[in-house]
Amino acid sequence: MAVTVKTFASAGEAAGAISSDRSARYLGGGTLVMRALNEGDVSISTVVRASDQTLTRIDASGPRITLGAGVTFARILGERDLAFLHAPARSIGGPAVRNMGTVGGNLFAPNPYGDFTVALLALDATVAVQGGFGARDIAIEEFLQSRERQSGALVLSVSCTRPASAEAFRYRKIARIKPKGGSVITLAAHLPVSGGRIAGARIALGSMAPTQIRAKAAERALEGRTLDAANINAAASAAVEGTSPADNALGSAWYRREIVGVHLRRLLSGQE
Ligand SMILES: Cc1cc2nc3c(=O)[nH]c(=O)nc-3n(C[C@H](O)[C@H](O)[C@H](O)COP(=O)(O)OP(=O)(O)OC[C@H]3O[C@@H](n4cnc5c(N)ncnc54)[C@H](O)[C@@H]3O)c2cc1C
Repeated sequence: MAVTVKTFASAGEAAGAISSDRSARYLGGGTLVMRALNEGDVSISTVVRASDQTLTRIDASGPRITLGAGVTFARILGERDLAFLHAPARSIGGPAVRNMGTVGGNLFAPNPYGDFTVALLALDATVAVQGGFGARDIAIEEFLQSRERQSGALVLSVSCTRPASAEAFRYRKIARIKPKGGSVITLAAHLPVSGGRIAGARIALGSMAPTQIRAKAAERALEGRTLDAANINAAASAAVEGTSPADNALGSAWYRREIVGVHLRRLLSGQE
């Protein structure tokens, strides 16, 4: 089937094109879209692109950082100001995928992908989207819960607050092939400290449910407490609560449930 490619100079026009045509798909880096097209996905009859430079802008100078949806992982790795996001960016694919794959595309990447999004979820990011209804900001958790319905909207950017210290943000991806490969599970934790106690704990998991989720029971086990062995154990025991992993070629649902607490304990204890 013939595929039409439409390129727009502004993000607004591109958003209009994808919101008015169910068979249109936005092309970010194309690492997943082009694979789908090459495999003969007939649900895509129009590919929409935008050359709008706002989509590739990085604002990393202040306490709140903004990444255009079209920013690639290779660019993030080249920004010293984004050092806290280097581990999640580095954990994605090989060099070719990091050169093409974008932050915006990662929000839509199905399991066993979406690793960068796990980090953004732990950082309580905000997603700026534009659709037929105009532009608006959505909390990333809400965005992910309604991801299927977001497919007619264009993601413009994501923003989040920079963690106060390197200790406050931790990330780990469990994969069978290192350093790349799909996720068996992916974990990220943001643990801001106020007055010596954790205030606003966020723990996010990938490959433990149809989309990335927060481990809210584990967060509650840490909230208002210190990061000592007893509290870490309580959080690790609670990590599996509310999860619904699937079986796939990388691991069974049973195995994922067995290991999620083990890896959360290691992440929180600072163990390799
Ligand atoms: C060999 C290989 C290895 C990979 N390894 C990993 C990995 O280790 N970890 C990982 O997380 N991912 C991995 N991926 C998946 C993928 O490369 C990344 O998730 C990447 O971030 C997707 O971004 P993209 O711009 O290429 O998406 P695209 O292929 O361009 O798009 C993917 C989906 O997102 C939509 N989309 C893209 N940008 C926007 C936007 N701005 N607004 C609205 N919708 C948008 C597209 O319409 C499409 O539905 C891998 C892929 C391949 C092929």
